Amino acid sequence: MTQVPVFQGRTMADAFGRRIEYLRISVTDKCNLRCVYCMPEEGLPWLKKDQLLTYEEIRDIVAVLAPRGLKRVRLTGGEPLIRKDLPRLVDLIASVPGIQDLAISTNGVLLEEMAVPLREAGATRVNISLDSFRKERVDALARRKGTFERVLAGLEAAESAGLEPIKINVVLIRGKNDDEIVDFADATRNRPWHVRFIEIMPTGANLEISANDFFSCEEALERLRELGDLVSVPGPEGNGPAAYFRFPGAKGTVGVITPMSHNFCDDCNRLRLTADGQLRPCLFGDIQTNLRDPLRAGQDLVPLIEETLRIKPERHDLVQGSDSGSGGLIALSQTGG
Ligand code: SAM
Ligand code: SF4
Repeated sequence: MTQVPVFQGRTMADAFGRRIEYLRISVTDKCNLRCVYCMPEEGLPWLKKDQLLTYEEIRDIVAVLAPRGLKRVRLTGGEPLIRKDLPRLVDLIASVPGIQDLAISTNGVLLEEMAVPLREAGATRVNISLDSFRKERVDALARRKGTFERVLAGLEAAESAGLEPIKINVVLIRGKNDDEIVDFADATRNRPWHVRFIEIMPTGANLEISANDFFSCEEALERLRELGDLVSVPGPEGNGPAAYFRFPGAKGTVGVITPMSHNFCDDCNRLRLTADGQLRPCLFGDIQTNLRDPLRAGQDLVPLIEETLRIKPERHDLVQGSDSGSGGLIALSQTGG
């Protein structure tokens, strides 16, 4: 059987010809919040410190991928900002030749104090999760009081620090925040925010809510169309699986991420690295390659990465109301979302 060439010069591709240039790195599985659609209230069986990749190990993996076509990196988690001295990791990754974009996905709680150090270390922009504009709702969804004020302060700090364009991630939940879809979209008229509505994905921890309270992005767009002319536009920098729209004259955009209603896998350009060093070709499913132990043993990672690219699945197998396609994931925080 002919092997599909995954590394060609300075590019890498999977067996379906999708060019891979983006790596999402989870730097911790822990979090300071317990969002109802993500983690169970009691938390998860956390990784131990020696199971986590060190910052130097993460840098070393990025340095293997960069000459082979990796251009963009995102730090995620769990909550990445709770890992000690994150700017040091940002600095290490930003110094790898070929890395052009280094973004962070955060719940925003610690961003007020971290925005400037992260920017100075080389982070380019942030995605902030904010599921409502109402304090009681945010605190209830995050299961932590005081979250709302801190996220807003973080959002402002990110803007002042120039961590832009800012994308705001809103997980849609029927009966919890779908009545704010219009408010979120309206905010993009005057603020340069890129609001992205995300369909809830089923995992072990959220089966009830994801089955009963699913709200599709198509329904969100229908509500928005009643407001006026939404024009389809190319996304902001770092465009991922979202489709974007803009109201005429608006500063920001509205995006939809539809993992459930429309499979978003066709243009998938990414790999994932978990906090304990598993290279995952898909957010879901059980395919992963341990890079941590071979790296610690001084082995060549290239053949392992090559094989992982080769077996990257064409699409995920998620099924509404079931965790059958999630590969045993309890929460998206385990793979970085
Ligand atoms: N803690 C950071 C945050 O919340 O932005 C980064 C990690 S979080 C797992 C990454 C993204 O996944 C967030 O935007 C979050 O809202 C989203 N997310 C988590 N669980 C989800 C689920 N079951 N379905 C859809 N999105 C989810
Ligand atoms: Fe934490 Fe992000 Fe999961 Fe919320 S979505 S519990 S902030 S990892």
